[in-house]
Amino acid sequence: MTTGRDSVGQRSETVRRANLSAILRELHTSGSLSRSELVARTGLTRSAIRGLIGELVAADLVSEERAEPLGTPGRPSPLVHTNPEQAVVLALEIAVDSLAAAEVGLGGRVLDQMRVDRPRRDLAAGEIVADLVHLAAGLRRDHPTGEGLLGVGVAVVGVVRRSDGFVSTAPNLGWRDVPLGDRLRAGLGSAGPIAVANEADLGALAEVRRGAARGADDVLFVSGEVGVGGGIIVDGKPMTGAAGYGGEVGHIAVNPAGRPCRCGSTGCWETEVGEGALLLRAGRPVDGGRVEVNALLRDAAAGSRSALDAMHEVGRWLGIGLASLVNVLNPRVIVLGGLFGRIYPLVRETIEEELGRRALPAPGELVRIAPATLGLDAPLLGAAELAFEPLLADPSRWLPPHGMLALASA
Ligand SMILES: [Zn+2]
Repeated sequence: MTTGRDSVGQRSETVRRANLSAILRELHTSGSLSRSELVARTGLTRSAIRGLIGELVAADLVSEERAEPLGTPGRPSPLVHTNPEQAVVLALEIAVDSLAAAEVGLGGRVLDQMRVDRPRRDLAAGEIVADLVHLAAGLRRDHPTGEGLLGVGVAVVGVVRRSDGFVSTAPNLGWRDVPLGDRLRAGLGSAGPIAVANEADLGALAEVRRGAARGADDVLFVSGEVGVGGGIIVDGKPMTGAAGYGGEVGHIAVNPAGRPCRCGSTGCWETEVGEGALLLRAGRPVDGGRVEVNALLRDAAAGSRSALDAMHEVGRWLGIGLASLVNVLNPRVIVLGGLFGRIYPLVRETIEEELGRRALPAPGELVRIAPATLGLDAPLLGAAELAFEPLLADPSRWLPPHGMLALASA
C-alpha cells in the first residue's frame, strides 16, 4: 500500500520523465531550438523548461548557447541543441542490392556511413552478418562493436518479430527462420540492445521524422523494389501488429487471376506493381534489376511509348491498391519510396485518377501523396531512430539520480 505522499511523489516523477522525453524528442527531431520554441512546442512553463534542460545539460545530452540578439526588445532566448557525439547509435541495413552501416548521433546527425553493393542472390545469414560486422568495423570509431554505443538498430528486407529480431521470412535473401538479432549480437560482440525491424517500417519512421511526411501522425509508406514494402504509422506510432509482422501491403491480394507471388499466394499487389511486373510489362528481362530499371526510366523520360505504357499500367495498379489502403487506414500522407518515388512524376495523374475512382470521398480528399525525400538511406536512418527510441522514451534513465542534482545545485 502506498501512502498519499508516495503516490504524489510517484506522479510528479512520472510527469518529469514524460516532460524530459517530450523535450529531448523535440530537440532530436529539430536539432536545435530556442527555449521559447520549446515552451511553445511542449506547452511547459519557462521555469519547467529551464529546470529540465538543466538536467539534460548535466548529462551532456544537450548544450545551451546564448542566442544572438535579434534587435527585438527583451533578452534573446538561449538556443538548445543536442550533442550528437555524446549519444551515438550504430545503424545497419540489409537491403536487396546493398548492405549499409552508419554511426548516427543524437539529433540524427550521420557521423559516418558506408554502403556496399550486394549481389542479388541468396546468401546465408552467417555470410551477411560477417559482412555487416566488417562494414561496421570500418566506420570512424575504433570500437564499433558495442562499447560507447547507445544501441544498434537494424533494417532488414524481411518479415521480422520485433521482440528479438527473429526473421521469419525474407524471400529476397532466401531466408526462413533466421534469428538475426542473436546472430548480430554474437557477431558484433555487443552486450547492448539490438533492435531489428522491417526496412519499410523503418523507412516510414525516417520519412515521418525527417522526410516527406514530417510532422504527420497518420502515414502510409509504400516502397517499390523487387518486392513491395509497407510501413504504417497510426497516431504517431508504427503499426506493427501483434508480433511485428504487420504492414506487409505487398501481399494484399488484388488480382485473383494474376501471377504467382514469391510468398506462395497468387495475384499479390507486388506481382502487379513490383520491379519484376514493371520490367515484364516493358518487355525487358524480369530479373534485370537496377540496370534494366534505369534503362527503362531513361526510355520513358525520352518519351518511349512502350516504356510509358508499362509505367502507366503499374501506376494504375498502384492506384487500385492505394485506394483500398486509403479506405482502411485514412492516412494524411502517402509516401512513395524506391521505384514508386522514381516513377511518380511520370504516372502521378494515372495514380490520382484511380484513387479518385476507388477511394471513398472523405479519406480520398484528405490524403496527400508525396515521393520519399530521404531516398535509398531512409531505412538506414530509420534503423538509427529505432536505436534511439529507448533514450527518447525515457531520458531519465541516462541522467544522474534526480535528488543528487537537486542537492548539488542547492
Ligand atoms: Zn505475395
